[in-house]
Amino acid sequence: MLKLSVQELVSGSAASGVETAVDPADATAASVVAPLVTLPEVSSAGSPATEPSVVGVSELVKAADLHARAVAAARAADAAPPADPPAADPPTARTTDTAADSVQMVTGRVSSGFGGRWGRSHNGIDIAAPIGTPIRAPLPGTVVASGPASGFGMWVRVRHDDGTITTYGHVNRSLVRVGEQVAAGEEIAEVGNRGRSTGPHLHMEVQTPRGTTVNPRPWLDGHGIGY
Ligand SMILES: [Zn+2]
Repeated sequence: MLKLSVQELVSGSAASGVETAVDPADATAASVVAPLVTLPEVSSAGSPATEPSVVGVSELVKAADLHARAVAAARAADAAPPADPPAADPPTARTTDTAADSVQMVTGRVSSGFGGRWGRSHNGIDIAAPIGTPIRAPLPGTVVASGPASGFGMWVRVRHDDGTITTYGHVNRSLVRVGEQVAAGEEIAEVGNRGRSTGPHLHMEVQTPRGTTVNPRPWLDGHGIGY
């Protein structure tokens, strides 16, 4: 019964197609509609070309949502107490989660955030990781410091193209020299435990082009840098 009414609909539209087929521009449309074989296609195409694009958008939104949730999960893992071994699942999940061209600066666990700590200010974030863990430049830049540094034991500093300077403290070993150009993702140092440090970790700072030291996390997140 339903088929009949569909056929009626289609034949109705085919009839109107024939009517307009007087116009040569519509002749092809009329010839497509006319054969019986094409009827199922015509009826399925009844919900027109807007549908695929709507599906595409909703899938995009879904993907973005999944991505956001994965990032949130990874962050939640960071915030969790240090019961898990540092180099376990969360960093791996983060690596596969980020886009192909984004950099994993270091793989570890944020053990201390930016700001007040024990009555003193903390000018960066600490990321706990085993000694020797690679530290990669988050963005291209020029090495402006490399070697011994008070408090940090040993450090590397990189000035990026917009004037932002990133600092890497307590490193076990620097792999770059002052004046050297580094690419995004290039290994510049290894995590260490030098200077005033209570365990192997990277102390990372971000200084804006105006010289203000800011919380590295929004900066890293904004650039899609993994850590
Ligand atoms: Zn620190």
